[in-house]
Amino acid sequence: MSFVINDACISCGACATECPVNAIEQGDSIYVIDANTCIDCGNCASVCPVGAPTEG
Ligand code: SF4
Ligand code: SF4
Repeated sequence: MSFVINDACISCGACATECPVNAIEQGDSIYVIDANTCIDCGNCASVCPVGAPTEG
């Protein structure tokens, strides 16, 4: 299991800063979570202003 960022993402970058394992990178249009690195902590969902990261 990992979190997944949906199309609501506005590419603010806040989640990437808060991820303890650096699993989040800027993609072509939205930020993207590496499912193999994510430890499911939920920080990204907590800091996201638009609720884009959801448990996938
Ligand atoms: Fe990073 Fe935690 Fe979000 Fe996974 S749930 S991408 S570990 S901040
Ligand atoms: Fe996108 Fe939310 Fe991450 Fe900002 S915090 S880059 S809006 S997923």
